[in-house]
Amino acid sequence: MAERMLKFTTIERRTPEKRDAEARDRDFLEIYADFIDAKATEQASRCSQCGVPFCQTHCPLHNNIPDWLRMTASGRLEEAYGLSQATNNMPEICGRICPQDRLCEGNCVIEQSGHGTVTIGAVERYLSDRAWEEGWVKPLAVQAERGQSVGVVGAGPAGLAAAEQLREQGYAVTVYDRHDRAGGLLIYGIPGFKLEKHVVERRTQRLADGGVEFKLGFEVGRDATLPQLRQRHDAVLLANGVYGARDLEVPGGGSKGVVAALDYLIASNRIGLGDTVPAYDSGELNAAGKDVVVIGGGDTAMDCVRTAVRQGATSVTCLYRRDKENMPGSMREVANAEEEGVVFEWLAAPRALLGDAEAVTAVRAVRMRLGPPDSSGRRAPEPVDGSEFDLPSQLVIKALGFDPEDLPNTLGAEDLGVSRWGTVKIDRRTQAANLDGVFAAGDVARGASLVVWAIRDGRDAAVSIQAYLQTKAEAPALVAAE
Ligand code: FAD
Ligand code: SF4
Ligand code: SF4
Repeated sequence: MAERMLKFTTIERRTPEKRDAEARDRDFLEIYADFIDAKATEQASRCSQCGVPFCQTHCPLHNNIPDWLRMTASGRLEEAYGLSQATNNMPEICGRICPQDRLCEGNCVIEQSGHGTVTIGAVERYLSDRAWEEGWVKPLAVQAERGQSVGVVGAGPAGLAAAEQLREQGYAVTVYDRHDRAGGLLIYGIPGFKLEKHVVERRTQRLADGGVEFKLGFEVGRDATLPQLRQRHDAVLLANGVYGARDLEVPGGGSKGVVAALDYLIASNRIGLGDTVPAYDSGELNAAGKDVVVIGGGDTAMDCVRTAVRQGATSVTCLYRRDKENMPGSMREVANAEEEGVVFEWLAAPRALLGDAEAVTAVRAVRMRLGPPDSSGRRAPEPVDGSEFDLPSQLVIKALGFDPEDLPNTLGAEDLGVSRWGTVKIDRRTQAANLDGVFAAGDVARGASLVVWAIRDGRDAAVSIQAYLQTKAEAPALVAAE
């Protein structure tokens, strides 16, 4: 084995080729090319096969990274894929959009010894893409039907991961989603240049082919309440994400031309999927020919600035109140945005939106400096007196983050317990909510987070739901025996 591995001192770290900014800034196709076979094998061979692999510890799914790297380096690709998919329902999606620099790769010992991390995400993506091409991705292996059913609210990564795990165990699974397509933010939030839609669609199609029933255009709270779903199913999983967009509380914040990030991204993704979107055609949700200012510094803001570039904006500026080191978004995405011509105004916050009766014309901003740490431990930004400046803008996109909706109210379940942040209150060991047979996973339980954590929660919830259903199935027998 040793001769095939540990090559980090002789082989340099290489990521897959990235298309030049000029070649990619007018389309919504992914910007990274596939690894060619030889490259994946070579890069996997850089792994030093750590006895205590920190990459694995810091992957929320605890993927068996060293083993699948070793198999890749030996050309045993199908086996490597088998191992990778055993812990992850969507390895090719995580390989594309996990912030690896903060998770697996950021904790690779080779990185810490100054040789550049093993490109774990790119190899993970390569293995699964090859698996789809070669037919190694098998249909769902469904066990004998158990005669119990689970209702899943939300077809995002948390709901889909749980649906797959439960269906394979022989439960009847119905996934409800208020959108007309399954995938949650994988379909309607994250743009195609990070994750092409066919990559998501083939996963959801595999679930449908395996007998998972999708009820789309079905809003829980409107088309059925949570208590009604509890009547219909033996257990219910809430995986409905966080959709309460934080608002911009400055004068002029409600002007025409000021739009919410998710409305903007959904419109763009719909256009990419071939839908007609009147608000895009009218220009309301279209950056073409405009000076665009995006307010915020997270992944959503990065996706908005890069979408605006591709729509043909005249200029794109990102306004963030902290500095680059303290922004929540991935550094990889900031670098991509900078290459594509986005201007970043770090340490700057909006004071007012200026405009006429028709629409917004500029953002009045103020320079900030970082003061002492606040209650969260992060240094709190504070305005610098007399530092105001104006940025001309005809489209302002608010990307200030998301909170849960008023869940007891929107789901028609007043007795559903929520935390002080509005997320579903759960027992962290079991994902169980306070109502019998109701569980929660993903953003709706942990707050806005990451796809990989949503998958982890969905898998954990599936284990607990199965335990719950087994107890429930045995209960009548026990009662009869007494
Ligand atoms: P979601 O993906 O939000 O899915 C929830 C589903 O529930 C939705 O389909 C919704 O329509 C449905 N729903 C909601 N309410 C109801 C109801 N009442 N009835 C029926 N259906 C309902 N994470 C990363 O790891 N990498 C990234 O690069 C990244 N980029 C992001 C970019 C953007 C723009 C955004 C907004 C988020 C990004 N994230 C990223 C975060 C990631 O997308 C989420 O953490 C993840 O999708 C959460 O999964 P989920 O299944 O909990 O919820
Ligand atoms: Fe890294 Fe994400 Fe893959 Fe885990 S799932 S190995 S964190 S890319
Ligand atoms: Fe390999 Fe890096 Fe993981 Fe060690 S930490 S097993 S070198 S990928």
